[in-house]
Amino acid sequence: MNIAVLTTGDELVNGEMSDTNTARIAQLLGAWGYAVRESRAVGDDEAEIEAALHDMTARREVIIGTGGLGPTDDDLTARVAARTFGRRLVLNEEALAQIRRFFEQKNREMHPRNEKQALLPQKSVILPNRLGTAPGFYLRHGNCDLFFLPGVPREMIAMLEEQVLPRLQERSGGSTPLQERILKVFGLSEPKIEELFVQAPLAQGVQLAYGVDFPFVHVKLRASGSEAGEQLDRAELHARKLLEPFVFAVGKETLAANVARMLTDANLTLALAESCTGGLVSQMLTDIPGASRFLERGAVTYSNSAKRDWLQVPDEILRQDGAVSRACARAMARGIRHSAGTDLGLAVTGIAGPDGGTPEKPVGTVFLALSAADQERVQGYRFSGDREQIRRISACMALEWLRR
Ligand code: ATP
Ligand code: MG
Repeated sequence: MNIAVLTTGDELVNGEMSDTNTARIAQLLGAWGYAVRESRAVGDDEAEIEAALHDMTARREVIIGTGGLGPTDDDLTARVAARTFGRRLVLNEEALAQIRRFFEQKNREMHPRNEKQALLPQKSVILPNRLGTAPGFYLRHGNCDLFFLPGVPREMIAMLEEQVLPRLQERSGGSTPLQERILKVFGLSEPKIEELFVQAPLAQGVQLAYGVDFPFVHVKLRASGSEAGEQLDRAELHARKLLEPFVFAVGKETLAANVARMLTDANLTLALAESCTGGLVSQMLTDIPGASRFLERGAVTYSNSAKRDWLQVPDEILRQDGAVSRACARAMARGIRHSAGTDLGLAVTGIAGPDGGTPEKPVGTVFLALSAADQERVQGYRFSGDREQIRRISACMALEWLRR
């Protein structure tokens, strides 16, 4: 199927905001075996949108548009679509009812302007939006199916999955599209993974692709046809064996979610002492709903005095070994565990750069320490990358320690 994506919004073309919708649409459809052939972004300008629609409907079978469905005057999509395809703009009662219901459920008063969102091109079908006010719509022009979705990413994605995808499958005659399974890997590089698969290849019929979501590598297994499910099961088993213990999740789960699940299941409590990561580990864990079940506290102890006053790191260690050292990491982990009274204390201290490195401790030197009642672990790393990458990889390594 010949699919194109059209995103609208001044902020997308003037550089204020990156167009993540296009990427997410292409990824989601790609995972179902539908390749996006073209993507375009245009500003909030009637003539621009109209020209793009004209041009794209002439060459494509499916167009997925996002943005411009809101109640304000800069939201032009329905009006432009009506004009482009020679239709009248009519009040869609179903859309109006949906918008009313949305406000009722939220106990909010509906502004008269929101009625505008129910004005759709004649003969379009509404695509209900259960997460927001703006319903989307679908219309057919010639041989082209056009889907117009809101700009807000989470609304757009839910509607794409729940409403657009089934229609695409219908259009493609229910042929079994490509299925994909993603193994998320931390601690092995792409070339290393590729080498392993060269030594022990996957069975015929399963394709292999890679993607990087720093610091993770995504190993993508793809298969199509009626046997795809079983083929992928076998390929997953093979890949897991090959890449053990570096695979932390299959599918959507994040490293933090995986750690959260493990700590919750094991009934363990945790306290964090972070220096160079500045709270990143705490943030990643508190992003997970229910983190309060295992996370007691996270302290950002950036200065020497914070390490001394909050974590009882001895002055002697700070003077002799320095704040970036095995001894300091160990003392930080012990200190936070004792003050919090948790099962585990985890500490990160390092030099994220760009300044502060020395020949003995260059930028990227990071120490992790984990303290538990019956054991202790301390290790130094030399990570490479810029400040952001070093902080991120340090935080992910800290999470990885909790997983093991
Ligand atoms: P609203 O009812 O919120 O006005 P809308 O359908 O009119 O929804 P827009 O006004 O175009 O959508 O965008 C709403 C918000 O969604 C934008 O402020 C932006 O934060 C986000 N957004 C829109 N398009 C994109 C995109 N292509 N990529 C990422 N974010 C986007
Ligand atoms: Mg808008």
